[in-house]
Amino acid sequence: MGLTGLAIFKELPKKNCGECGVPTCLAFAMALAAGKATLDACPYVSEEAKENLGSASAPPIKLIKIGAGDSKTVELGDETVMFRHDKTFYHPTGIAFEVEDNLDEAAFAAKLEAIKGLEFDRVGLHYTVDFIAVKNTSGNADTFAAAVKKAADAADFALILMSEDAAAMEKAVEAVTARKPLIYAATADNYEAMTAVAQKYEAPLAVKGANLDELEDVVNKVVALGYKELVLDPGSRNTVDVVADLTQLRRMAIKKKFRTFGFPVMAFTSEEAPLDEVMQAQAYVSKYASLVVLRTTEKQFILPLLSWRQNLYTDPQKPIQVESKIYEVGAVNENSPVYITTNFSLSYYSVEGEVESSKIPSYIIPVDTDGTSVLTAWAAGKFGGDRVAEVMKELGIENKVNHRNVVIPGYVAVIAAKLKEDSGWNVIVGPRESAGISPFARANFTS
Ligand code: SF4
Repeated sequence: MGLTGLAIFKELPKKNCGECGVPTCLAFAMALAAGKATLDACPYVSEEAKENLGSASAPPIKLIKIGAGDSKTVELGDETVMFRHDKTFYHPTGIAFEVEDNLDEAAFAAKLEAIKGLEFDRVGLHYTVDFIAVKNTSGNADTFAAAVKKAADAADFALILMSEDAAAMEKAVEAVTARKPLIYAATADNYEAMTAVAQKYEAPLAVKGANLDELEDVVNKVVALGYKELVLDPGSRNTVDVVADLTQLRRMAIKKKFRTFGFPVMAFTSEEAPLDEVMQAQAYVSKYASLVVLRTTEKQFILPLLSWRQNLYTDPQKPIQVESKIYEVGAVNENSPVYITTNFSLSYYSVEGEVESSKIPSYIIPVDTDGTSVLTAWAAGKFGGDRVAEVMKELGIENKVNHRNVVIPGYVAVIAAKLKEDSGWNVIVGPRESAGISPFARANFTS
């Protein structure tokens, strides 16, 4: 359990100088107890107090780094809230793909290529996956180490090494020491040997229990051996149990400040059909996996999963925005159409995609509406005819085209008169939905 605000207050310098960002030491103590501040914000805390307050000032879920050097490094954990709308989530769920070491050479290489191919561009963002998880299905230490080395050489993803045989694990870790892979897993049967490997190579260690009680027991034993770079696996595999366990772990860490469970957590999918598997993964990303290991690499299923993760791990108070400037789609010239939208990322990229598919080179001007969509921006007074005219003037679109026609979204037809009056341009009311832009453009702008 964490310390109370008053217990923390007793250890503070009581200068009430405000340098920590709050006016008094008592307020700082309360913020620390609530996990909303860290002890290093106070420059006057004594070493003795630091020692005493160590656990109170630690984040409720420890930050664990997997990977090192030039390869991908993934940070997991360090979350402070149960719900995204309470504040925000900070470290996106790591997405891992399992590859078994007993595959023949061609199948192994094909699986690695499929994992490497999981890159996507969506709404101006580049999505990639994070981990390759090599599983010691063969049961042979040399085969396992060779497969791990092959995976490490093929791609710079972070690595998870999966074996419960400590000797095989050591051989595999030796092959990729510099990559600081996640060792999976220490169990009730092997935790001493597995912890020794993790300590020797300073690699993060996954701890697996058959259930939460066993997990608690094994984590305490590993911590007692002096190792705290941990990721937890509650051992459950069907969807309902996994979500229940992950929720329980999160509640215990955040609400009860139960240090034994104050580590990132991982989950494994178990469904066979790719769509079912990805739906399982989506549930785990939502509640509350720091890391999910999948087997399917079918792109059409992975993109929605990564989009979902992206949506969850954005700050709900900061919509994703694009810069307000003149965008050129295709080989524009002085006769190209001009479209207006808002700078909400999803609005802009929906319009851009449709303009692109119309095959008519065009200009798009996203007006800065603080990242809100068309109707929201208009209702908030950020997307009126006068504002759009002002932005068109500021960006100098009149110098780019010879005509004076501008297309506005159909939902804000009401701004057409004011825009015409302020800009002097002829205002064409376009379709309401971006999906209508392509046929609209072909009907209006092909000669
Ligand atoms: Fe107190 Fe330290 Fe904050 Fe000053 S910086 S008010 S001494 S907690």
